Amino acid sequence: MNRKRSILAYEDALRYIPGGVNSPVRALKSVGETPLFIKKANKETLTDIEGNRFTDFCMSWGTGILGHAFPTVVQAAKHAVAMGSSYGIPTLRETELARLIVDKMESIRKVRFVNSGTEAVMSAIRLARGFTGRDVIVKFDGCYHGHADHLLVSAGSGAATLGASSSAGVPGAFVSCTVSLPYNDAEAVDELFKTRGREIAAIIVEPVAANMGVVLPEKDFLQHLRDVSAEYGALLIFDEVITGFRLNVGGAQQLYCVTPDLTTLGKIVGGGYPAAAFGGRDDIMALLAPDGPVYQAGTLSGNPVAMAAGIATMNELFSVNYHTKLNARADKFNAALKAIVYDQDVTVNHTGSMFTIFFSAYKVRSFADAKLCNQERFGRFFRYMLAHNIYISPSQFEANFISSAHSKRELSRFLNTVKDFFKSETQHNTNI
Ligand SMILES: *Cc1c(COP(=O)(O)O)cnc(C)c1O
Repeated sequence: MNRKRSILAYEDALRYIPGGVNSPVRALKSVGETPLFIKKANKETLTDIEGNRFTDFCMSWGTGILGHAFPTVVQAAKHAVAMGSSYGIPTLRETELARLIVDKMESIRKVRFVNSGTEAVMSAIRLARGFTGRDVIVKFDGCYHGHADHLLVSAGSGAATLGASSSAGVPGAFVSCTVSLPYNDAEAVDELFKTRGREIAAIIVEPVAANMGVVLPEKDFLQHLRDVSAEYGALLIFDEVITGFRLNVGGAQQLYCVTPDLTTLGKIVGGGYPAAAFGGRDDIMALLAPDGPVYQAGTLSGNPVAMAAGIATMNELFSVNYHTKLNARADKFNAALKAIVYDQDVTVNHTGSMFTIFFSAYKVRSFADAKLCNQERFGRFFRYMLAHNIYISPSQFEANFISSAHSKRELSRFLNTVKDFFKSETQHNTNI
C-alpha cells in the first residue's frame, strides 16, 4: 500500500505540532507506525489523503455510533452552521438536547453541556468536592477520565500506551488527593473506606472500562461501589463518556441497575462535534454557578452546531430497537471472533458494540491483567490489519467499536483478516 503522502504530511506536521499530532495515541508510536492523514470518511470507511480506504473499527474512539457522516446529522449541522456557529447566548437546542438526555437517563435530573469529556469529568469532580466539602477522589487503575491533573494517576489509554502511568507537570499535592485502586477489587475499596471514608468526596469509575481495553465490571462490583459510597456520604460518579448511548439509551447504569449521583457523557452526545455533558441529582447540580458556589463556565459550551448534531444523533439512537439491532449484530460478530481466536493465546472481551482483542491467554478483569498482554504481538496485529485496509484502535489498551453503518460484508472481512493474521503467524514460525 502506498502511504507516501501520509508520511510526507507527518514530516510536515512534525515541524509545527509537537509529535505531529493533537492527541498522543494518533501518532501510532506504540504500534510502530506513522499516522494516517485522513481526507474524508463515510459510513464505516476512512479515506486517507492518498485515496487508500480503511474500514474503521476505532470510529473516533466510539464517537461515530451511526457511522461517519450520517445524513441527518450532516444535514442538521449544515443547517445550524449557516445560522451562525456560536453566540455565547442560550438557544432552544440546548434545552432540547438536555430534555432528551434527562428523559432517557433516570439518574440525570439536570445536565450541563461542556466541550470535552475531560471538561465534563473535571467539572463533575469539582462539583462532588463542593457538595461534600471533601477532597479525596477514588478512581481505578486503567480507567481514563480525561487529562485533568488530579486524574492522571494510573490512567489507562494513551497514558498507559506511552508507558507513563502519570504525567509530568502534575503537582504532587493534586495527586495526593487521588487514590487509585484495582478495578473489580471490592475488598480494596472496603479497606480504603474503613480508614479514610470520611475524607472521600467521590468514587469515579467507568462502569464498563474501555480505556484499558474493554473490561467488564464483575457481578455486584458497581452495586458495591454504590453501597459503600452511600454509607460514607461520598458521591458515586459514573464516567459514561464511552458507554453513554453506546450500550443502550440509558447507559451502563441502566444495564447494571445501579444509580450514580453524577454521570459524565461525551463522545456520542455531540454527534461527532465537540460536546460533552455532566449531570445528575437535582440537589447536587443546584450547587453550580449561577445558582450555587461551584464555578464552571465555557465560551463554546452548548455550541449550537454541536447541539444540532447531538439532537439529530439522539433521534436516530432513540428510534425503536436501535441498540437491540446493533448489539445483536455485534454479539454475533464477537461470537465468531471468539471462535477464531480460541486456540491463539488471545482473549476477547466484549459488551454490546465494543470489544478488545487482548493478546493474552488469561482472563482480563483489571489493568494488571491487561498489562500482561504481548504488546509486540499486538503491534504486529495492528500493522497486519492496517496493511489489509482495516483500522483498529491503535493500542492494546483501547476498545474497538462497531457502528450501525458497519456492513455484514465488512464485518466478515474483519473476521477473515483476523484468521489470516493467525495463519501468517504460523507460517512465519514454521519458516524460522
Ligand atoms: C474519552 C474519554 C474521556 C475524555 O474525553 P475527551 O473528550 O477526550 O476529553 C473521559 N472519560 C472516558 C471514559 C473517556 O473514554
